[in-house]
Amino acid sequence: MNKIGVLTSGGDAPGMNATVMAVAKSAAYYNMPLVGIKHGYNGLLRKSSSLFDDMEELHLDTVLDIADRPGTYLRTARCMEFMDPAWRQIAADTLRAMGIEGLVVIGGDGSFHGAEYLCQLGIPCIGIPGTIDNDLPYTEMTLGYDTAVNVCVDAVRAIRATSRSHDRPHVVEVMGRHCGDIALTTAVSTGAEIVLVPEVEWRIEDVAKRLNQQIAKGNTRTTIVVAEGCWESMEPFDMFTFLNSHGKKCYAGEPISSMRLASILKRMCGMIEARSTVIGYTQRGAEPTARDSAFAFEAGNLAVRLLKDGISNQVIGMKEGKVFYMAIDEALQAKRSFNRYLYDLVNTI
Ligand code: ADP
Repeated sequence: MNKIGVLTSGGDAPGMNATVMAVAKSAAYYNMPLVGIKHGYNGLLRKSSSLFDDMEELHLDTVLDIADRPGTYLRTARCMEFMDPAWRQIAADTLRAMGIEGLVVIGGDGSFHGAEYLCQLGIPCIGIPGTIDNDLPYTEMTLGYDTAVNVCVDAVRAIRATSRSHDRPHVVEVMGRHCGDIALTTAVSTGAEIVLVPEVEWRIEDVAKRLNQQIAKGNTRTTIVVAEGCWESMEPFDMFTFLNSHGKKCYAGEPISSMRLASILKRMCGMIEARSTVIGYTQRGAEPTARDSAFAFEAGNLAVRLLKDGISNQVIGMKEGKVFYMAIDEALQAKRSFNRYLYDLVNTI
């Protein structure tokens, strides 16, 4: 194999640039020219007026400059056209016309589906799991997850300090889409008293009960870490009915959010204050931790080696602390398991 390409796709994740650097260093080492495809799969569809907007030959000195930076130099995007076989054919034709004989795709499960289709069109692809969500069950870690958790841990520690100063509970919302791993690991790492995730059904009444127990024990600054997807698993709760049944002035319910949860808990537990913070995009834009950077380095190198050796249609992951690879279709079928034991521990002791 001679020339290869690399792209970042889906949501950005800390460590994407570090992975591109590892791919570039390895490609240079094996004398394989490298092309960076921009804006995810969009860069393969020949929609821009200038080729430079779509792809760029990546020289090692450019890549070394961006390696430690957060974000992704290649840009990332969703590309709805890629759901359409006709557009995927255009992408495969573009790659062939550019003499690109293999592609490294850094993204999540959606991006891996796209890579699998490209493999079927005769373009060898290797996937590297780039997503903060940690929602790819075949691998113990995804690129960016460790960084995102560390951002959340720093934030929750700071929030717990001010919560303690003011004796007020705090709801902290973290990312993770349909996966509660960021929330759970953050809660475990910070001593948070309550964690809510999409994987486990929960009731506001139980959260209020646990909060009241904490207050009764003298812990007036309980931290409730919620995953952004936890509202999916919340049992319906009608504030209107609740307040009415307690003979209070009531107002119609609005869609639930972390801010609203704090306000409901405040009323249910008779507290003076309860606050909320959404940590948000700081989780995605942080500099990668050593753990993510090290994974990026090994995964990037392995991806290039696999393509060089004619091995394709694989994704890279981490198992028992070691970097490994497996077939894309098998990886996409792996079933998720959620650490219920740790979840119960946080919400109990
Ligand atoms: P992630 O890769 O982080 O899971 P998305 O699910 O948004 O993010 O997918 C990123 C991109 O991958 C999509 O915008 C699309 O270009 C491509 N993609 C996703 N699902 C498919 C699919 N089923 N078939 C082909 N391409 C897909």
